[in-house]
Amino acid sequence: MKKVKLIYNSGAGQSKFTYFLDTIIEKFVENDIEVSIYRTNQNTNLEEFLKDANNENLYGIIVAGGDGTINRVVNIMMNYEIKVPLGIIPAGTSNDFAKHINMPNNFSDCIEKILKNNVKPVDVGKANDKYFINVCSAGLFTNSSQKADKNLKEAVGKLSYFITGAKELFKFRPFSVKIETDDEIFIENINLFLIFNGSSVGGMTYFTSDSSIQDGLLDLVIIKNCNLHELGGLVAKVMAGHKLEDKNIIYKKTKNIKIEKMKGNCDRPDVDGDEGPDFPLTVTCVEGAINMFL
Ligand SMILES: [Mg+2]
Repeated sequence: MKKVKLIYNSGAGQSKFTYFLDTIIEKFVENDIEVSIYRTNQNTNLEEFLKDANNENLYGIIVAGGDGTINRVVNIMMNYEIKVPLGIIPAGTSNDFAKHINMPNNFSDCIEKILKNNVKPVDVGKANDKYFINVCSAGLFTNSSQKADKNLKEAVGKLSYFITGAKELFKFRPFSVKIETDDEIFIENINLFLIFNGSSVGGMTYFTSDSSIQDGLLDLVIIKNCNLHELGGLVAKVMAGHKLEDKNIIYKKTKNIKIEKMKGNCDRPDVDGDEGPDFPLTVTCVEGAINMFL
């Protein structure tokens, strides 16, 4: 009998997934797949649960949670070179990656999709020693999910990120960085940078519409230092789904990026919604790094 390992975050996304747990297990069992379950919280040893996955004749590793839980699983898969296909059930506060790979919002439809067994290799980003599936970023607004109060997050979900971001706006100062891509080196005074593996951030899936998790490249978006008025116009453009063409935006596709902080203050970079490694950053796209149900 084939098996899946199901990892779920009981605290994610206002906890709606737990009500569907039995239905999901039933769906796998109907298809002769045995389910072993792992309920995550901060103190549990997920590594122990996953590290021998290559030798266990698994159909897949299934994660029901948000970007943060997927990030934890992907880091373990990369560190142990686990090649078992990964399936995503979007059950978190922030499901940017699941949206990028078009996983349905309905949990049952998700399982149906996973049972079709359409497995493809996808890229993973690496920032110093930490892997990311979505985005590595620093500067204005970029660590709102990290800073958002847990109670606020549970009460209003994703809106909490915008509330936290808006609070930050008034005390923010730009900082200068030296950036090295595959073909260019430049120094710029910036508000923020975002390095995407997929194409979605803060639920805005159209942010960089032609980026892919299968092209072996990262999408670097830099928003230069500009005044509040210009920044407002820029945000409006992005929200309206316009292409990233603006004098205050630098947009590049590249496999490797080095970022060194020169002047000014900036919080530690954020990686998939959690605190990432500190500057200087060496960021790479690891092509086709993990197998995934798409
Ligand atoms: Mg890419």
